[in-house]
Amino acid sequence: MVIEFLAEDSVTVFQDPTKNWEITRRTTQIRKDPLTGIRTRILDYPVHMPDPPDLTDLAVQTAKTCPFCCPRVTEATPKYLPEVSPEGRFGRGESVLFPNMFPYDENSAVAVFSNRHYVTMPELTADYLMDGFLTAGDYAEALNRAYPSVKKYFSLNWNYMPVAGASIIHPHYQIVAGHEPTNYHETLLKASARFYDLHKVPYWTNLVAAEKEKGERYLGRTGKVDWLIAYAPRGLIEVVGVAEDAARVEDLAPERWRDLAEGLQRVFGHFAEKRFPGFNLTLFSGLEEDRDHYRLQVRVVPRAVLSVIGTNEVNYFKMLHEECLTMMHPEKAAAELKRAFA
Ligand SMILES: [Zn+2]
Repeated sequence: MVIEFLAEDSVTVFQDPTKNWEITRRTTQIRKDPLTGIRTRILDYPVHMPDPPDLTDLAVQTAKTCPFCCPRVTEATPKYLPEVSPEGRFGRGESVLFPNMFPYDENSAVAVFSNRHYVTMPELTADYLMDGFLTAGDYAEALNRAYPSVKKYFSLNWNYMPVAGASIIHPHYQIVAGHEPTNYHETLLKASARFYDLHKVPYWTNLVAAEKEKGERYLGRTGKVDWLIAYAPRGLIEVVGVAEDAARVEDLAPERWRDLAEGLQRVFGHFAEKRFPGFNLTLFSGLEEDRDHYRLQVRVVPRAVLSVIGTNEVNYFKMLHEECLTMMHPEKAAAELKRAFA
């Protein structure tokens, strides 16, 4: 089955004041995601991101009252009912997972990776991530034990730093696992099922094979997780890690969590080098019914401020048109990020 990578160039012609009014053409490329059809516009627009802010002072200040620092994390955070966790919370090593006091859904959790309040991007190593990730797996299992017959659209979500929407500096992720999916979670699973119905093969194995063959956006492999840059990114760039042998979070063996963490360490290292101040990350799990056609995947987009006056990269296009914009060419970004996977 051939996957179609559709793109259309939209060309503007104008008299350019910076080139003595010479007639100039500028191209905006409009791409469609091969699976979902979601559009992304790739702009020919030079970006000069300011250096990321130094958060050291803010980190010292906020640590004094941080609810996620020890010992407050066990004093100021809620506990589960015994049917979910007899101990009240989940944890491995320094990671602690507890109910979200201001939930997004009926199963809405928050977790810290470690006791450390301020962790810079290059310090987000696989070793750092692992206890938190395995705790998320424990929570998924406990939810299934407590509520076996209820549908749960499980996702692990992370806003790293205030620029990405975090309200607390202390790195933490959130789990949303309700009976109703989010818009994109539903789009992803339904489109994946539709592809399988039509072509009798999973989209994801085909996508990985196609990207590997093309070589333009394929980054590499950590264990049994393949990494690539999305053809039609939903952020400045969108990195995708696809697990070869798991569709649901419950199917993730500890070694597969490690494969994901090893890949993310490379991605975060690269984001740090590129001076991105933050990122959003989501791990999208399938349901039992998605096992044939879906592969569990993590998606990461860097966040940035686009100018010295603090211009947010999210504007009316994303907010009101639900259209993605980027000034970073996916193939150029892949060529750079590929080196981290070599
Ligand atoms: Zn803290």
